[in-house]
Amino acid sequence: GPHGDELSTLLWEVYRTGQSLETEIQELKEMESYRREFIGNVSHELKTPIFSVQGFAETLLDGALDDESVNRTFLKKILHHANRLDSLARDLSTITKIETDELDMSNEAFNVAELFDAAIESVEIRAEEKGIMPRQRVAPDLPQIYGDFDRLRRVLVNLVDNAIKYNQDGGTVQLEAESQNDEVVIRVVDDGIGISPDHLPRLTERFYRVDKSRSRNQGGTGLGLAIVKHILAAHDRELHVESAPEEGSTFYFTLPTSPQPSLQPA
Ligand code: ADP
Repeated sequence: GPHGDELSTLLWEVYRTGQSLETEIQELKEMESYRREFIGNVSHELKTPIFSVQGFAETLLDGALDDESVNRTFLKKILHHANRLDSLARDLSTITKIETDELDMSNEAFNVAELFDAAIESVEIRAEEKGIMPRQRVAPDLPQIYGDFDRLRRVLVNLVDNAIKYNQDGGTVQLEAESQNDEVVIRVVDDGIGISPDHLPRLTERFYRVDKSRSRNQGGTGLGLAIVKHILAAHDRELHVESAPEEGSTFYFTLPTSPQPSLQPA
């Protein structure tokens, strides 16, 4: 009868609301545990540089200050760890910003060569230190690409920086761009230490590193590829990687050659 129908509709509504509440609660729980893990990771990352700065400064004050050669070494170590803290603070602020307000992604047209020049300029010092000269190979008559120039420069800086960091002195790093089905594919190619297949799926996780001490010695924060992934996701793009240990790595992605109607937040 009519009452039975109403009752079953009501029960159905209650059931559906219950289901979606359960899903929401589940999602909130996941976010909460993700947030806790992130904060745990951050405090862990902060410990080493903070303890080191404290330790070296205390040792200097306890008398090492009188020894010219020791105090230089210690001050250098203090500076090194202070720089690590600085990189960490910057990367954390970038990743938080990108995750919360990516709505202001711009969608401008520019030449790939401009992007490559800007990225290479930002890594000049590190490149010189390692005797590496990043090269560009941009296909002739490449159309302009669309996206957020500053954020895409950041993507390339992080990739090129890694290509230099995880490489031998004097190794090669090449930035490539060519057309591929109405899009432009951009690659950062190195002949460095490479990555074994079992690590590849996790590279873009925050704080994931193949070799922790190597990353830290090179000033890595473990956030570089997480930032890259977020910026590309905000452009509706994905980061791809091909790599083999001791042979080198190629990180690549594509960008559109016409304006994107809607840049989606990551
Ligand atoms: P990090 O600050 O440690 O460099 P990233 O997020 O940029 O953090 O990279 C994560 C890890 O991926 C690095 O610690 C390194 O082990 C590996 N990796 C990234 N790029 C390369 C590369 N070009 N060659 C070899 N290993 C790489």
